[in-house]
Amino acid sequence: MQELERGDSGIRSMASVQGSLVMFPIFKYGTEEQKRKYLPKLGSGEFIGCFGLTEPNHGSNPNGMETNIREDGDAYILNGAKMWITNSPVADIAVVWAKDEEGQIRGMIVEKGTPGFSAPEIHGKWSLRASVTGELVFEDVRVPKNNMFPEIRGLKGPLSCLSKARYGIAWGAIGAALDCYDSALRYSQERIQFDRPIGGFQLTQKKLAEMITEITKAQLLTFRLGQLANEHRATPAQISMAKRSNVLMALDIAREARQIHGVWVLPMSFRR
Ligand SMILES: Cc1cc2nc3c(=O)[nH]c(=O)nc-3n(C[C@H](O)[C@H](O)[C@H](O)COP(=O)(O)OP(=O)(O)OC[C@H]3O[C@@H](n4cnc5c(N)ncnc54)[C@H](O)[C@@H]3O)c2cc1C
Repeated sequence: MQELERGDSGIRSMASVQGSLVMFPIFKYGTEEQKRKYLPKLGSGEFIGCFGLTEPNHGSNPNGMETNIREDGDAYILNGAKMWITNSPVADIAVVWAKDEEGQIRGMIVEKGTPGFSAPEIHGKWSLRASVTGELVFEDVRVPKNNMFPEIRGLKGPLSCLSKARYGIAWGAIGAALDCYDSALRYSQERIQFDRPIGGFQLTQKKLAEMITEITKAQLLTFRLGQLANEHRATPAQISMAKRSNVLMALDIAREARQIHGVWVLPMSFRR
């Protein structure tokens, strides 16, 4: 994720959705049959997935979701709409969260081409343009019971996925910072002022040294978080704090890089 976002935040975003928001819930909450059917194709990239939680009227508070399912024989009938869904226009499957007749949040896999299901693209985003974003619209969509996640109920399902994605974004932010640092370092070696490269002055060297120190601190912190995650000991709060801290660090590095360039050189994620 660090290296992907070093190139472009949109690419990292797509990979985060594929891995943390689509493959992870199928792996964690899916049936054996679902795992066998979808995971190899998602892993190889033959299938693209998307994750439908946010709705037009419910973003920060997904518990208010209106998308719903009602039982009908061997299927559930899905109605509602999801908004700001990464990959949706190109996705082969969607992991969708909806409320059942008891008001419990359930997760399910909806395949592209199911009658009543469409995924129009959202045009004109101001940033993250290498990542395609769209809606998910469900009009009396028949989702076979075999496509439901059998056990998981409530917000815990989608929130556990978001925690996984946040860990990846914590690495992504470091990649964005590295892109700023690399570009500032290169420029400091090329730009001649007062008859020498500006990197020859101690003030510029101090700035670069501080930048790489902060980046290295973030790498070590996030590496440790990964070790804890491997042992199932990383808490959601630790993951959120790591992401927040690394994103703030990346913004500071972007400001420092501006001092060296004299103009804003934002990493891809901030620039677009
Ligand atoms: C490029 C992009 C890709 C996305 N991809 C996906 C995806 O793949 N799947 C998916 O399900 N969703 C996706 N989202 C949706 C994203 O998760 C939501 O945008 C997010 O949850 C915020 O919801 P909202 O945009 O409706 O903002 P709102 O919830 O309407 O918030 C608006 C503002 O109010 C603030 N606010 C809200 N509640 C409070 C509060 N209690 N106290 C103080 N301030 C508050 C927010 O911080 C924000 O500044 C994507 C969004 C974008 C922009």
